[in-house]
Amino acid sequence: MQFQVSDAIILRHIDYGEADRVVTFFTPQQGRCKGFARGARNSRKRFGTALEPFAQVRVHWSPAKGSGLPPLREVELIDLRVGLRSDLLSLALAGYGCELVEELVGDDPGHPDIYQLLRAFLDHLATAGPSPTARLLFELRLLHQIGYVPHLLHCAECFGPLADEVAFDPHRGGSLCGGCAPAAGGVRLGLTTVGSLARLLRSPPEQFAGINLGERTLAEGGAALATALNIHLSRPLRSLRFLREISRAFEG
Ligand SMILES: [Zn+2]
Repeated sequence: MQFQVSDAIILRHIDYGEADRVVTFFTPQQGRCKGFARGARNSRKRFGTALEPFAQVRVHWSPAKGSGLPPLREVELIDLRVGLRSDLLSLALAGYGCELVEELVGDDPGHPDIYQLLRAFLDHLATAGPSPTARLLFELRLLHQIGYVPHLLHCAECFGPLADEVAFDPHRGGSLCGGCAPAAGGVRLGLTTVGSLARLLRSPPEQFAGINLGERTLAEGGAALATALNIHLSRPLRSLRFLREISRAFEG
């Protein structure tokens, strides 16, 4: 029997039967995995707090027998990320980041870059707290890493130069010039916002600290990224609804 070991981020767990748990975790090489944690609810000694969502862990598991889930032998806790557990907005953003990765990557193996991005995002939330800049950076980099590279600094259709106001349509490839864009409607961005997004794509993908975006970039860039993410999602995200409710409560 060949045991497997991998660094992982716990995405969630659900209770199963009287004493067990089914754990979903994300790994650099094997993508999203599920495992069966026998006795996890009876014996705190066996898994402790290592199965909590957003925990950084090292998972040891055995091959699945038949059609069952692979049994987890041991889950070593590396970092519980205590800092994000005392802040509701950080928790909401962490849940959103994990659900986005699950939806966009799913069971597709071999995404160490996306694993490192999620890890850096969760670490940042745990140490620096939530911010709209961190959210935008995560969304932009995740889109880029799944292979969606919007045309930003020139028109996606005629490759011509852009005016001060840029229409953004992810279905047509990104930025559109005045001649190619419809006269009204859709997402509109200032040329400076488009330039900021292009610059941010050149920043190290795991860097969140020390980057602060202005309100206009956050509002316009956030709206553009939301439309771009939407075309890759097959259903509305539960975590996004929660995040909106929490954000409103903080603003109101
Ligand atoms: Zn054009």
